[in-house]
Amino acid sequence: MNSYIQETIELVSKRNPNEPEFLQAVKEVLGSIAPVIERHKKYQAHAILERITEPERQIIFRVPWVDDSGKVQVNRGYSYQFSSAIGPYKGGLRFHPTVNPSVLKFLAFEQVFKNSLTTLPMGGGKGGADFNPKGKSEEEVMRFCQSFMSEFYRYLGPNTYIPAGDIGVGKREVGYFFGQYKKLANEFTGVFTGKGLQWGGSLIRPEATGYGCVYFAKEMLLTKALDFKGKTCLISGSGNVAQYTVEKLIEFGAKVLTMSDSSGFIYDKEGIDTEKLAWIMELKNTRRGRISEYVTQYPSAEYHEGKRPWAVPAQCAFPSATQNEIDEEDAKTLLKNGCTLVAEGANMPSTLEAIEVFLNAKILYAPSKAANAGGVTTSGLEMTQNSMRLTWTAEEVNARLHHIMQMIHSNVYNTSIEYGQKGNYLMGANIAGFVKVADAMIDQGVV
Ligand code: NDP
Repeated sequence: MNSYIQETIELVSKRNPNEPEFLQAVKEVLGSIAPVIERHKKYQAHAILERITEPERQIIFRVPWVDDSGKVQVNRGYSYQFSSAIGPYKGGLRFHPTVNPSVLKFLAFEQVFKNSLTTLPMGGGKGGADFNPKGKSEEEVMRFCQSFMSEFYRYLGPNTYIPAGDIGVGKREVGYFFGQYKKLANEFTGVFTGKGLQWGGSLIRPEATGYGCVYFAKEMLLTKALDFKGKTCLISGSGNVAQYTVEKLIEFGAKVLTMSDSSGFIYDKEGIDTEKLAWIMELKNTRRGRISEYVTQYPSAEYHEGKRPWAVPAQCAFPSATQNEIDEEDAKTLLKNGCTLVAEGANMPSTLEAIEVFLNAKILYAPSKAANAGGVTTSGLEMTQNSMRLTWTAEEVNARLHHIMQMIHSNVYNTSIEYGQKGNYLMGANIAGFVKVADAMIDQGVV
């Protein structure tokens, strides 16, 4: 490995002990950009790697709130403002009991390069809390969001930091955040994306990450003159990203076999069609139920408690739940069963070892920072509409999303060719995302 990269990884490891997810993300990016570091000595001369791996600002705060029984609860809130080199901080908020500095730093770090790939002027950030919205009443969720925002609002602004949703944070939570922000800041500005349509949201934002992931995968197939017709697909997760990935795959003629949640997965040999997907969306988005209920509604399907779907034979896989959900063994199983395309809807769903398996096998592997960039892309389009104080039609937003995903694909693919590893989308995405941010940092001096 290049000695500058090696030294930076050692420095980051020493400076951030007990942060395995963050170190994993740093190794994933730095481990694949050696060709550009060696070709352009300016990056070392300007200490870009040391600077790009250190967040510009990190804030940890107390979030006290009162539950329905009158008891005071305390959670921890976080804001990681990683890089504003190419635009204001942009990235989602996550509410999940596993949220900690390591998880949010990995997400914020990845976001920097992802946002760079979108072609839009957005820096990278991420935030959230170790709050578990599951099983909480509407009132508890609202009180928590309001308490969170009572501190968090200080760091936001339409030209400073514009958050969005992520795991555990959807339209409902964004509504509560926005209401509290508006009250405290006394202004109505587009400071969140993923807003309701009546108050500044963009059409296609809910669909964007899933649709974008399938658009990107379609471009990868096109490089081999293939398409989705009749292709069998595994999806993990049944939340926002998973649902719209399935919707677009069905539209493109693929056969979707699985979906999951953190309790287990369902396997429908006959395929999840539009009607079944509508039932899942109602189950998950309205009733907030468990995916296991699918087999009561559709008894020919199977439910596998406590398992992930990767052992089901299929041609394509779309991990769309959470980080590190595909390990080395899962990756080998996928390949053994004939999988030739993996497109990451979730952030960092594959371990470093799993990625190695995909790269060595030279399958079509789309890393999350490219494949799931459609969500933040459409957030960028929501910001544009807010600034212009107008609303585009669904067709217009979808067309722009589709076009940008095609541009991201060609940028990443062409970068992989430029650096001598045609079809290595990991390297292509990391180098293309890195160069834009690094060059902006050099232009702006040591700040
Ligand atoms: P949701 O909260 O809507 O859905 C998450 C899904 O993943 C649920 O089915 C959930 O199951 C499952 N899940 C969560 N944690 C785990 C776990 N530890 N093990 C197994 N399953 C789990 O989130 P999103 O769909 O928005 O996000 C999914 C992924 O996509 C995340 O990695 C997120 O960072 C990424 N992403 C999201 C974007 C967006 O626009 N929403 C944009 C780009 C990336 P359960 O209900 O049981 O918790």
